[in-house]
Amino acid sequence: SPNSPEARDIAYHLHSYTDARRHEETGSVVLEKGDGVFVEDIHGNRYIEAMAGLWSVALGFSEKRLADAAARQMAKLPFAHTFSYKSNGPVIDLAEKLISLAPVPMSKVFFTNSGSEANDTILKLLWYRSNSMGQPQRKKIISRVRGYHGVTIASASLTGLPNNHRSFDLPIANVLHTGSPHHWKDANPGESEEDFATRRAEELEAMILAEGPETIMAFIGEPVMGAGGVVVPPATYWEKIQAVLAKYDILLIADEVICGFGRTGNMFGSQTYDMRPDIMTMSKQLSSSYLPISAFMINEKVYGPIADESHRIGVLGHGFTAGGHPVASAVALENLKIIEERDLVANAREMGERLRGRFHALEGHPLVGEVRGVGLIAAVELVTNKEAKTALEAPGALGGKVAAALQARGVIVRNMLDAIAFCPPLIIKAEEVDMIADRFEAVLNDVAAEVL
Ligand code: PLP
Repeated sequence: SPNSPEARDIAYHLHSYTDARRHEETGSVVLEKGDGVFVEDIHGNRYIEAMAGLWSVALGFSEKRLADAAARQMAKLPFAHTFSYKSNGPVIDLAEKLISLAPVPMSKVFFTNSGSEANDTILKLLWYRSNSMGQPQRKKIISRVRGYHGVTIASASLTGLPNNHRSFDLPIANVLHTGSPHHWKDANPGESEEDFATRRAEELEAMILAEGPETIMAFIGEPVMGAGGVVVPPATYWEKIQAVLAKYDILLIADEVICGFGRTGNMFGSQTYDMRPDIMTMSKQLSSSYLPISAFMINEKVYGPIADESHRIGVLGHGFTAGGHPVASAVALENLKIIEERDLVANAREMGERLRGRFHALEGHPLVGEVRGVGLIAAVELVTNKEAKTALEAPGALGGKVAAALQARGVIVRNMLDAIAFCPPLIIKAEEVDMIADRFEAVLNDVAAEVL
């Protein structure tokens, strides 16, 4: 009916990441409530949220302690800004907490409201730093094909996916992209993971030398790529990349927006891959997305030159009204406390192993091309031709079919073209993991019968 929430949603709401011409095909799913790892739509259909929203709702959809933390802070002091040394209790506690959790020594935390804003701010802060240091030529940043770092003009430039560049005249100047670490997709025939990682590091070095090492400021990467298809790097990839960065004194930014706070089976993805970043971007699981908040930490190497009197070029003219918001900070603090109290990092490890174990058991299935993952983040790459590693003719057609069939069976996943991503809340239990795996297997069989 024209007055249904679905119809009004289409009538008045311009959605993120949609094709405005396709709304009739896809329709809207209007969610109403949640409990644990489940969400329910306005018609009472229940779904297991196998993507934790957007890789983010670590504590699931009914954590009362987060609602209470927000209500308490709202009643006490609902807002305080953080410009020019104004502050509030929760943001101070949160900054201290994040520094204490950091896997490498960090000096300062800057607060923003989304992952995009955080990465955008990092770029500006590093440009400011280069200017402060009298190195105006050092403005370039290297990112990767298939990396995802957000959608503002600068962070969309860092993102290495065609939809985020095409039609926007992006990337902007000073942003370069090197190859992705996806062995299954990008390796040469017969090339081992080790040789592939070596080649990627050599390509990075060649790019640095071609551009001029003195012009390169930083390298940004997700420990495990998320939106680019859950790309788990070869075991020695980060070690080799870091050796090149160290050789030319290039800063490393770990974008922990998805990996941070337990997702990869350690508190940070940087720990899973022995990364020693100079800057770490955090959001999503920082507050379980109950309220928008993001942040990045910088080490002394980054901060020192900005603070040095002899370098000063004036005020850092940057900051957001809601950056360091006391209510979002209070929620993030409570969220981190719960993650630690319930040892959800260990649960992510255990449940992830269980889920990936089920997927690995499907490797003989005719539609399964690759199973990849670490901790509690995984993807199954679907194919119709295993040898050629190809799926149905239109890229994403097979993935879309499987995702839609799973949704009809009450499981929300995300297909990134023909890769099906799984990233459930960190609180998930064994029987819920099995529910996802059982339904996925049933859907694969149905779809195989249809397309093969
Ligand atoms: N960085 C990474 C690794 C992400 O996965 C995302 C979002 O998915 C972002 C940055 C951007 O975050 P936001 O959507 O909050 O702007």
